[in-house]
Formats: sequence, C-alpha cells, structure tokens
Amino acid sequence: MSSGRYSRQVLFKPLGPEGQARLAASRVLVAGCGALGTHAAELLARAGVGELRLVDRDIVEWSNLHRQAGFEEAHAREGAPKADALASWLRRVSSEVRVDARVAELNAATALDLAAGCDLILDGTDNLPARFLLNDLSYRLGVPWIYAGSIGAEAHVQLFSGTEGPCLRCQVPELPPPGTLATCDTAGVIGPAAALAASWQAALALRWLAEGDALALAGRKAVLLPWALQARVVRVLADPDCPVCARRELGALEGAGAERSTVLCGRRAVQVLPASGGRGTIDLGAAAARLAHLGTVERRERFLRLSAPDFTLTLFADGRALFDGLTDPVRARSLYTRLVGQ
Ligand SMILES: [Zn+2]
Repeated sequence: MSSGRYSRQVLFKPLGPEGQARLAASRVLVAGCGALGTHAAELLARAGVGELRLVDRDIVEWSNLHRQAGFEEAHAREGAPKADALASWLRRVSSEVRVDARVAELNAATALDLAAGCDLILDGTDNLPARFLLNDLSYRLGVPWIYAGSIGAEAHVQLFSGTEGPCLRCQVPELPPPGTLATCDTAGVIGPAAALAASWQAALALRWLAEGDALALAGRKAVLLPWALQARVVRVLADPDCPVCARRELGALEGAGAERSTVLCGRRAVQVLPASGGRGTIDLGAAAARLAHLGTVERRERFLRLSAPDFTLTLFADGRALFDGLTDPVRARSLYTRLVGQ
C-alpha cells in the first residue's frame, strides 16, 4: 500500500485501520456503468476497495458526458464500451484496486456468474426489471445490494440486506406496464443529482464493508432533492408475505419479466417485447410527447413512429417495439429501456 494514501480516511474513527483492511479485502459488483456506477466506482476505487467488477452492456455516447464520470470525448467519438472505458480510468486513478471489466448484459442467464464471489452489489442500472433481478440476486446470494436512482433533480438511495426484509419487492410488488415510468432519456437528469445518489450509495457501501452490519442500514430510504434544497429519510416496512424476502420466490432470477428481443431476418431490424410481457397498454400520446425531442414522431391509432438519426422506432400500444436500422439486440434492448422505460 502506498504510504499515506488512505491516511485521511483512516483518521476517521468509525473506519480506522481495521475498516481500511476490510475494504482492501472486499470485492464489489458495480452493476451498470452510467452516472451512478461511474461515480460510485470511482469513490470506492479511491477509498481502497480491493476489487471492483464492472458490468455494462452499452457504449459511451455524447449524451452521457454531462453526468458520467471517467468518460472523455474520445470515448464517445470511438463508441468505447463503458465497462472498458471506466476500467482504464480507474486503473489510472489507483494501481492498487483490481478492476475486472465485463462488457456484458446482466440478465437472468448471466447474473449469478457476474456476481460470483462479490461481497456487495451496487445498483448502477436504469430500469425496474434490472433492479428486480438485482433484488433476487441479493437474496439468493445473501449479500446486500444498494439501490440508487436518479431522474430530473431527484436522487433515491436504499440498502437492502439480502437476508431480511424489507426488500425492493416489498415496496414495488409488480412491474408496471411499459412506458409508465419516466427515464433519463425522456424526463432528463442533472449531473449533481446522479452524483449525489452515487455518493450516498458509496458511503453506505463503505460503511457496510467496514462494519458488516447490514441490518443497521436497511429499512430506510433516502430521498434527496438538491434543486429544491430538500432531503428526507423515510422508514420502509417489510411485507410479511413478500415473494422475495419472505418466500424466496426469485422469479426475476428465473427469467420472468425479462425483455426479449429478436433480430428479424431479411431486414435490418430488431423486435423488443416488454419485460411485463405485454400486460396493459401504453399511452401513445404521452409517449409521443416524451420522444418528440429525439426526432420526428408520427402518431397513429395503434402505434407511433419515431424517426431518429440512426434508427426508426415503431412502438405499438401493447408495448412491442420494432427498431429498424439496428441489428444488435443488446443495443435495441438498451434503447427500449431508455426510451420506453422498462
Ligand atoms: Zn421483500
């Protein structure tokens, strides 16, 4: 360990030299390398967490740069995979942290492998199906996960123990129909709100890794509103009949509620079916208004069509989507999550 590197944080009594040694012996899964994951990963790397496993399926885009740490214009210009770009930045920040970059999609088939051997799961995702999966994964492995979310100028943070309730499913029993939740690509987000969520998340992570008492941190949710100069921490109760933390029915980890995509033969197009399986219908009028800034939107009775510079999205009222101009199913699912929500 380089001399003096962690001296100021070891002086902080609740951490101390014992806590620092525990950080160095820890391995953390960073699930998603967007605004949350990049900021949280940098804080943990600088703090001396032993190993970070970075998972992300996307590439760096220009619209990421205003809020995501560790990425430069060159990454956006060349379309660098986010996990790789962040890994190279973190290795420059610290030669002591081991960084394991996985350019991969976190889904029911890959989750157990991607989380193997990790002491903690940090949520850097941007959608509810992915968080249902992380929730299942946490209770399957018995390790905590820390939810963080940010949209507009709002940040939410909450730790779930992975052993006892409350868990995410106590609060959100089922996936809502697609298109009902706002996303950063439709409602916008400011960088400080995302960094704030990631900062609280990283603080909870350091405390759990140093002290090991997840139950002391669970059962409360932080809601931070920096633009309005407001913050509150609310108590969250466990549902005694919760499918996950009470009954250990881990449907998301078994593949329920996953978005499905199919490359359509004979044309450059990918079809995406919503995670909720097409239950409910989309409010096409509201969706058209949300997507209008991305290109030309044409509204019909049963579908809408968005013509963007590099693809055309046809979104049907049952939540099904066709991306013409794309051949990569992972990119199509990523765009679906961001543009439609879910
Ligand atoms: Zn629960």
